[in-house]
Amino acid sequence: MKNDVLKVLLTEEQIHERVAELGAQIAKDYADKNLLLVSVLKGSVAFMADLMRAIDIPLAIDFMAVSSYGSGVKTSGVVKIIKDLEIDLTGRDLLIVEDILDSGMTLSYIIDMLETRNPNSVRICTLLDKPERHQVDVPVEYIGFTVPDEFVIGYGLDYDERYRNLPYIGVLKPEVYESAE
Ligand code: 5GP
Ligand code: MG
Ligand code: MG
Repeated sequence: MKNDVLKVLLTEEQIHERVAELGAQIAKDYADKNLLLVSVLKGSVAFMADLMRAIDIPLAIDFMAVSSYGSGVKTSGVVKIIKDLEIDLTGRDLLIVEDILDSGMTLSYIIDMLETRNPNSVRICTLLDKPERHQVDVPVEYIGFTVPDEFVIGYGLDYDERYRNLPYIGVLKPEVYESAE
């Protein structure tokens, strides 16, 4: 698995430190609110698991799954709901926990959909942001790290369902996906 990694972009320590900072900020901002963390499966599971333990106020969690990518590395622009939320959103302060903001298409679609269900507020927390790739304007309150336009894997992020269990975030060697095409 390690042999497929071109370089490490963010170490375990860097991620851990940043997640603690984000958690502290979120706990402060949501102290008097009704926080519901919404994790978008599967890429955000590692981030969600660490982030929720860094937020020291009462909160609820829920999960949804959408597909926008297929198995490859290019966005299709098509967002399909695979698994919907279970919790009633009325009066809740939603914080969508995402792995990476790339084109922004997925998040833009999710936000529009969730806003129709009468939440008190909807905001976004993304671990990674790739500003060079944005195609739609999505307002993001919390960003872990800004990353260059490279395909990254690890800490939840996959290539063809692999590498999610890497404890750090790295760049995949191009020959790994070139050989699969
Ligand atoms: P968007 O709709 O913003 O273009 O894409 C969002 C989703 O595409 C992310 O949640 C993630 O699943 C996937 N994605 C975008 N860029 C990358 C990347 O560099 N690496 C991986 N593994 N997934 C990515
Ligand atoms: Mg995602
Ligand atoms: Mg993926």
